[in-house]
Amino acid sequence: MPMNIDLKNLTIAKAQDALKKGEFTSVQLTQAYLDQIALKNKDINAYLEVYGDALKAAAHADELIKAGQAGPLTGIPLAIKDNILVKGKIASASSKILENYHATYNATVISKLGRERMVFLGRTNMDEFAMGGSTENSAFGVTKNPHDTSRVAGGSSGGSAAAVAMDGALCALGSDTGGSIRQPASFCGVVGLKPTYGAVSRYGVMAMGSSLDQIGPFTKTVEDSEILFNAIRGVDVHDSTTITEETYSPARIGAKKPVIGVPRDFLKGDGIDPAMLAAFEKSLAVLKGKGYEIKDISLPNISYSLMVYYVLMPAEVSSNMARFDGVKYGLYVDGADGIADYFETRGAGFGREVIRRVLLGTYVLSSGYYDAYYNRANAVRAMITEDFNKAFQSVDIIATPTTPSAAFKIGEKTADPVAMYLEDIFTVTANLTGMPALSIPCGTTTIDGKELPLGLQLSGRHGDEKTLFEAGKDYEGQ
Ligand code: GLN
Repeated sequence: MPMNIDLKNLTIAKAQDALKKGEFTSVQLTQAYLDQIALKNKDINAYLEVYGDALKAAAHADELIKAGQAGPLTGIPLAIKDNILVKGKIASASSKILENYHATYNATVISKLGRERMVFLGRTNMDEFAMGGSTENSAFGVTKNPHDTSRVAGGSSGGSAAAVAMDGALCALGSDTGGSIRQPASFCGVVGLKPTYGAVSRYGVMAMGSSLDQIGPFTKTVEDSEILFNAIRGVDVHDSTTITEETYSPARIGAKKPVIGVPRDFLKGDGIDPAMLAAFEKSLAVLKGKGYEIKDISLPNISYSLMVYYVLMPAEVSSNMARFDGVKYGLYVDGADGIADYFETRGAGFGREVIRRVLLGTYVLSSGYYDAYYNRANAVRAMITEDFNKAFQSVDIIATPTTPSAAFKIGEKTADPVAMYLEDIFTVTANLTGMPALSIPCGTTTIDGKELPLGLQLSGRHGDEKTLFEAGKDYEGQ
């Protein structure tokens, strides 16, 4: 029976309740999302594939709900970024080289959510191998922003952000190496979390920069972000960098409310849209009104973070991409000999941005340049981390805008990689330092008659997502 479910105002928290009370079933809820996808995906291109077995999974969830055996996420529909492995399904990372590659095992996050009987709706579009900030680097077409289809949805997890924003999923998973969850969340007006490095297992997510990557949730509210984060976090024997939940108990500076630090010097660049700055100041005023102390802080080395990221990340990319050799996975192009096979396959399978980064990374790692670039960037990374550690001795949260501006036009930055890289100015620090960071919608700016979302970024101490959720929920309740 078709049902009118108010998807726009639905949250995980509300859906849990409605499923339990029998207001609708998971099959009805899943069908409602499938209908939205059928209606909107042609235009938005958020999904690369909708799974044919979603309704079957929903029916199974309904049985558990009826039998009183449901967990908190049973029957909740989820979209999955195309670089996270779901056993038996294609995982292409939006690359031609993996166009027909079927995953042979489940990522740990998928095993966890599968055990919860979440409903997997499909896999979402992204920049190839997560390299980019607009989803324009996908081999399978750009994802458009549901708020204005002439603009990008952000990236690299643009498909996941747009899926939630177009009511094509209640929540989604993305990956964040330098901002790929937070920036598209900000562009699409949803909540995005980059967890603490090691909080969520990376087993089964295709590695981009192994010291930077984290999987995290896209949701409509901070409460939902917390629900999904708690379901995917935890130690994993398959990922030795995972950390236990018990290891961290923050010593709070603020007695009642967390103290918020603002790196004022970092907000003075002329690349930042005045509308973004105004929305940012307004959100600080909201938090101040709720009893938060707001302090200026200084992070002396933060201006180097983008440069450090764009040395270290390609270095890690160049070695992680070496596994795509035409033998182990996906595409194979036959060349004159073994070495030629390798060149031909990679030349045909990788897009321009991936090739650019492999070249850059190989360069900074080559003998003679290793000390000048890679080692130096590593040393500066340690200095930046130290700056943050010092700042967190006097504040509990650091606030910045998530991005310098609202979503840009499709094609606007494709010819200029550096302009695209500048998009990541506020987000890469959380990956370099390992700290958690949350992007929350903080108003809109109107351009060409369209209301475009803006994002507020709250970063916290290593392991302290809890304080971010607390402040985020407070802010949303304005
Ligand atoms: N935009 C950044 C980049 O291009 C971030 C990518 C990511 O987080 N995966 O590297």
